[in-house]
Amino acid sequence: RVAASFTKQQVSLAWFSGDSAAPWTPHFEVVVIGGGHAGTEAAAAAARCGSRTLLLTHRVDTIGQMSCNPSFGGIGKGHLMREVDALDGLCSRICDQSGVHYKVLNRRKGPAVWGLRAQIDRKLYKQNMQKEILNTQLLTVQEGAVENLILTEPEPEHTGKCRVSGVVLADGSKIYADSVILTTGTFLRGMIVIGLEMYPAGRLGDKPSIGLAQTLEKLGFVVGRLKTGTPPRIAKESINFSILNKQTPDNPSIPFSFINETVWIKPEDQLPCYLTHTNPRVDEIVLENLHLNSHVKETTRGPRYCPSIESKVLRFPNRVHQVWLEPEGMDSDLIYPQGLSVTLPVELQEKMITCIRGLEKAKMIHPGYGVQYDYLDPRQITPSLETHLVQRLFFAGQINGTTGYEEAAAQGVIAGINASLRVRSKPPFVISRTEGYIGVLIDDLTTLGTNEPYRMFTSRAEFRLSLRPDNADSRLTFRGYREAGCVSQQRYERASWMKSSLEEGISVLKSIEFSSSKWKKLIPEASISMGKSVHLRALDVLKYEEVDMELLARAVPEPLKKYTKCRELAERLKIEATYESVLFHQQQEIKDIQRDEALQLPKDLDYLTLKDVSLSFEVREKLHFSRPQTIGAASRIPGVTPAAIINLLRYVKTTQ
Ligand code: FAD
Repeated sequence: RVAASFTKQQVSLAWFSGDSAAPWTPHFEVVVIGGGHAGTEAAAAAARCGSRTLLLTHRVDTIGQMSCNPSFGGIGKGHLMREVDALDGLCSRICDQSGVHYKVLNRRKGPAVWGLRAQIDRKLYKQNMQKEILNTQLLTVQEGAVENLILTEPEPEHTGKCRVSGVVLADGSKIYADSVILTTGTFLRGMIVIGLEMYPAGRLGDKPSIGLAQTLEKLGFVVGRLKTGTPPRIAKESINFSILNKQTPDNPSIPFSFINETVWIKPEDQLPCYLTHTNPRVDEIVLENLHLNSHVKETTRGPRYCPSIESKVLRFPNRVHQVWLEPEGMDSDLIYPQGLSVTLPVELQEKMITCIRGLEKAKMIHPGYGVQYDYLDPRQITPSLETHLVQRLFFAGQINGTTGYEEAAAQGVIAGINASLRVRSKPPFVISRTEGYIGVLIDDLTTLGTNEPYRMFTSRAEFRLSLRPDNADSRLTFRGYREAGCVSQQRYERASWMKSSLEEGISVLKSIEFSSSKWKKLIPEASISMGKSVHLRALDVLKYEEVDMELLARAVPEPLKKYTKCRELAERLKIEATYESVLFHQQQEIKDIQRDEALQLPKDLDYLTLKDVSLSFEVREKLHFSRPQTIGAASRIPGVTPAAIINLLRYVKTTQ
């Protein structure tokens, strides 16, 4: 399926231009630019939705490359992965085939905020992702650098907007498309930095994307600049692990994907991680050499929640920082020192590493480096990720100011679905803040914008207790199946079975009554806070920490035993019981938000000249730039006052 260049015979999925001047110019329904985490999800999603899709990327052998950390998931990020999976996306399934250390974070807190996470074998991930992408029906992959976009003349019936109709490659060849998705990551005018040295590159070993950055700027997109960095890699055999704290993986491993009951590797065969710390000598090396470190001096913003060691030393002086030593893969000789992202000159990086406990004799194989790149202000895109400025042009991933594989994957799947729906003139597929972390991510980006790399956290979501990792399928799989057509029959059936089993299980648990003598045997502590002769529903008994479905089923084998046969079902029933009463109260708040989200603002409102609505010029400017699609979204734009929202609401009601 890889097309080095197009000939009529090679490409069965493209059809060809009717243009007599260029009769063999290929034409796809959806063209995706970039084979990173956003691009692979976007291309696969568009193809799953039934669109003839082309993935155009610099190099096929870097498809699925993990540019920085050898891990997926974490707090908030694990939620995104579950939601991508619920829409039949790829990254969760590929992680279940490639992980080397699975551990759920935040276990001490409630399951709503558990963070599914795993160390991933980089090589395996890339191999498995490439296998998946190259075998996806309706998807063709071609190597090439996109330099320019082909645009139609502005169409008056669409308020003068132009439409993208294809791309131009570096060799001048053209490919026509009905929708185009840009997922170019850190490549737009990318510059690598080590010490005082700076040179153009998208990431180590890859050329930057300059022509495309210029095209976007010329089109009038507002462009900003961000930076990020990666730590050095260390030879495994040069580390003294024997004096460090060892972290073992969970047993059993919790898979990322709803369709997997286990992961590819047993817990006892997984690799450990080790913990060490920085010390005052590390701070000294950083502080004494700031003049040799141009990345630190740059005013461009870096990732707040994944900062470089230099930022940590400057922001939190005299503190010790954790450094996790993480395996890069099953047969890799490299260790990734998480927490040690650095852009000092190479010899100073070596000096810094060797003053850390356990790393005294460490051999640095690759130095750490920083990258600075262009991103596009995400207030220029709609919640379906289509740009306001150019019709049928979509942006997803780091290009929108986010950081992280999971944030990129989440946007990729939504852009792929919407690019495909757009071609078929179907309504956009938008996830609201009340339905998923994907909705929170996209709503934050499109209404608030960002001036630093944006990453997901559970604290960003208002409805954390409803948007749990365990129930992403019941929130999104059915919508994905019915409205987008991006979910396979097999996944749909699995989600339907789980939904009906949960409903049935909950109703059975509500119907069983435990006498006080019976429940006191299971939860003796509870008798202190409750009257002696109270009867409890089995669902209430299950809420207690020490009770699980196994224990309940031992007390009442019939009819409860059957709900313990599937581990996931038993765990989900326990979680449903835990949150039953709080969720009941949250439903009203969710309904209030959904009511505001249902109040659509006309797409082509000209806020700058709009008459009959009292709005300050500042508010008009903000609305003009972000173009919110609903009253709910308008109310979340900073500076748009409650009075302005009431006036807008009146206007919408009188015009609808
Ligand atoms: P990428 O994965 O970067 O993929 C972009 C793809 O687009 C590439 O395949 C590229 O070849 C292709 N491409 C670009 N331009 C063109 C073109 N014109 N034509 C054709 N193909 C093109 N994330 C964190 O969460 N924490 C970190 O600490 C962190 N540190 C990082 C450090 C470095 C040095 C780098 C490079 C990235 C780091 N990241 C970090 C970010 C993480 O790698 C990205 O968030 C994630 O990979 C973004 O996915 P993406 O799909 O948007 O872009």
